[in-house]
Amino acid sequence: SPRVFSGIQPSGGLTLGNYLGAIRRFVDMQDSGIETLYCVVDMHAITVWQDPEALRRQTRELTAGYLAAGLDPARSILFNQSQVPAHAQLAWIFNCVARLGWMNRMTQFKDKAGKNAEKASLGLYAYPALMAADILVYHATHVPVGEDQKQHVELTRDIAAKFNHDFGTEFFPMTEPVIEGAATRVMSLRDGSKKMSKSDPSDASRINMTDDADAISSKIRKARTDPDALPSEIEGLEGRPEARNLLNIYAALADTTVAEVLAEVGGQQFSEFKPKLADLAVAKLAPISTEMARLMQDPAEIDAVLRAGSERANALAAPILKRTYEIVGMVGA
Ligand code: ATP
Ligand code: MG
Repeated sequence: SPRVFSGIQPSGGLTLGNYLGAIRRFVDMQDSGIETLYCVVDMHAITVWQDPEALRRQTRELTAGYLAAGLDPARSILFNQSQVPAHAQLAWIFNCVARLGWMNRMTQFKDKAGKNAEKASLGLYAYPALMAADILVYHATHVPVGEDQKQHVELTRDIAAKFNHDFGTEFFPMTEPVIEGAATRVMSLRDGSKKMSKSDPSDASRINMTDDADAISSKIRKARTDPDALPSEIEGLEGRPEARNLLNIYAALADTTVAEVLAEVGGQQFSEFKPKLADLAVAKLAPISTEMARLMQDPAEIDAVLRAGSERANALAAPILKRTYEIVGMVGA
């Protein structure tokens, strides 16, 4: 039967990219009645330096974001990765299954390690094997993610296939990435060739879920664009990544297609379109950020949600880990 797993790193505040590319899909899947597990992947976050106090705050804020956006702890298992040890335990097995050649092809590592890869943590390099464990420790069949995580879900399939082959079993399923919607890759507002990221040093590059109306409007007004008017058909967006990005965002927020948006706004200048986009973004995000702020006033309540979710996640993961250890030949009770 289908089981959905996905996660977000508490490596900063949530962005519009995380909301449109991930969280909204998480809510859709929950609401469709499938079994869903959504994780705050704190062990992934520390693959780059996180101040401990900031990590605590970001973990709670991300959980508040999940809840405010419509995830319901009665219907989805909401938890943080570090509290379910089976993720790290299965990751070790997968470190021994994955090949160096596979890891060397991972573009996220290259992007995040930058020019001086010698200074990157070993954890950043091993990140995709831990992600495979996050997914497979629940035998998850579907993983809603943004476009940037496609390669890691494919690696998860490679790891599952090699494990199954090496041990002559069909124990691990072939997980499907689910990459859907008008905004599977929201781009930076400052650079149409770069993904919007919560860890980008430039705050102007992204819309944060906690930004107020003024901040959202000002960032959209200052978003980089070209000088031309908007086209009335999609073909006219060819070679105009910034224009395409703003239209993708508009279409995703309005729950429609870029073609339909262009039918309305084609011919307009950005000076006319940007305020409309800003109004739409504020209207969609303000209720969520207001609810996040309310939830953040009671951190103990948030921690209780994570604790209860972790218990349920542990109960699902423990027998799968135990069976994996048996398959590998580890002796135990
Ligand atoms: P970081 O910069 O720390 O990597 P991030 O913003 O990339 O943070 P992640 O926690 O790495 O966020 O990713 C969480 C989910 O959000 C993933 O499914 C990822 O594909 C999705 N996602 C991240 N950025 C975008 C984006 N710009 N557009 C669409 N989806 C995105
Ligand atoms: Mg990321």
